[in-house]
Amino acid sequence: MKKERHTGGCLCGHVRYVVTGPVTDVSYCHCAMCRRFHGHAGAFVGVERSDFAFVGAGRPHWYASSDKARRGFCPTCGSALFWDSPDESRTYFTAGSLDEPTGLTGRRHIFVADKGDYYAIDDDLPTYPGTGGT
Ligand SMILES: [Zn+2]
Ligand SMILES: [Zn+2]
Repeated sequence: MKKERHTGGCLCGHVRYVVTGPVTDVSYCHCAMCRRFHGHAGAFVGVERSDFAFVGAGRPHWYASSDKARRGFCPTCGSALFWDSPDESRTYFTAGSLDEPTGLTGRRHIFVADKGDYYAIDDDLPTYPGTGGT
């Protein structure tokens, strides 16, 4: 867990956010839903909801990808930005949307049983099998 302040946003700058509390390192999600939504594995950083805020007027569009979660993207440029579930105290944003330097590192691979057949997971991070996605 790291305590720096982080800012981030989408490609076009319409959606901007700031996080002001401890964030997780990066979880790489290989579920089929993430791969479709992101074009590849999803790379997510979690923060307690109370430490997350939007900056300015831009807001994502939300897509209910399951009955357990919704995914947020920029309505203008389409950047994949958020994964959010009422079952979790943390909300998650995409590592790639952060302004650099992030100071973050890889934490784990999840839903690896559903990973694509077009790449290998060849680092030493912990892996969690899982299937399905939300
Ligand atoms: Zn945008
Ligand atoms: Zn996923």
